[in-house]
Amino acid sequence: MEHQCRLHIGCHLTSSKGFRHMGEEALSIGADTFAFFTRNPRGGNRKEADPDDAAALRRILREHAFAPLVAHAPYTLNLCSIKPEVREFALRAMKEDLERMELIPGNYYNFHPGSHMGQGPEKGAALIAEGLDQVLQPGQHTIVLLETMAGKGSEVGGRFEELAEIRAAVRLPEKVGVCLDTCHVHDGGYDIVRDLDGVLGEFDRVIGLEHLKAVHINDSKNPFGSRKDRHEKIGEGSIPLETFRRVVTHPALRGLPFILETPNELPGYAAEICLLRGMEAEMQEKMKDLENNFTRDQDKNHKKE
Ligand SMILES: [Zn+2]
Ligand SMILES: [Zn+2]
Repeated sequence: MEHQCRLHIGCHLTSSKGFRHMGEEALSIGADTFAFFTRNPRGGNRKEADPDDAAALRRILREHAFAPLVAHAPYTLNLCSIKPEVREFALRAMKEDLERMELIPGNYYNFHPGSHMGQGPEKGAALIAEGLDQVLQPGQHTIVLLETMAGKGSEVGGRFEELAEIRAAVRLPEKVGVCLDTCHVHDGGYDIVRDLDGVLGEFDRVIGLEHLKAVHINDSKNPFGSRKDRHEKIGEGSIPLETFRRVVTHPALRGLPFILETPNELPGYAAEICLLRGMEAEMQEKMKDLENNFTRDQDKNHKKE
């Protein structure tokens, strides 16, 4: 029971010391999910994966009832570039990454949809869907996530409609979900501070909340609608703490993995995990009190009858 209710939260970890090391590091900071780059974030080649190391991580994930992990593709991948060689590289890297993800089946692979570089968001979405059709396999055990973007420059994914368009165009939409980044949507003009219900309602109408698989929980260095995308520590940016309380306790987001991508080292992440877990636990306590009061009142009424 407690496991089902608890908030699944973790942060971005470095993958340089391998799979098992990430699992142990996550445990050491009270995390039960985490994110990592599948290769150097600026692109480049991957290191060969060690199956024994992956098995060790799988054991940790199972023994400690982790929520799905949310791996992150390099930022430089661009499935909708004007340059064919850039698209080629993105395809090759994603194929390799997804093969590697099969060593830890049942997790997510999140990526930035891309920048259309003046071709327009429709053409961008079409190219991204075309690329996904080349890398997604019916038998794969990883769901690929499109990240909601701030809409900086010619980024595709600043509007929910663009993500819905990509999902609608791929041959295997069941292998494609969405990851919502609180900093990005806030910067992109979705008002999660004053109207979180409204934003999630719009997500549901345009994409469908059943396709929301993970949340990147970040504060923003910039004001609402700035289309900037610069993350800040929780409670230190332009998104108030109260909004984060609502996000981690929102019924529509319950059970999803929450990933911190804030500018922190491990102790800072541990503190943020503790803070957000505390907010969620407090809400659970309140709910329990309400339930107890309700049953007590019911009992009283019963006796009066
Ligand atoms: Zn990202
Ligand atoms: Zn993010």
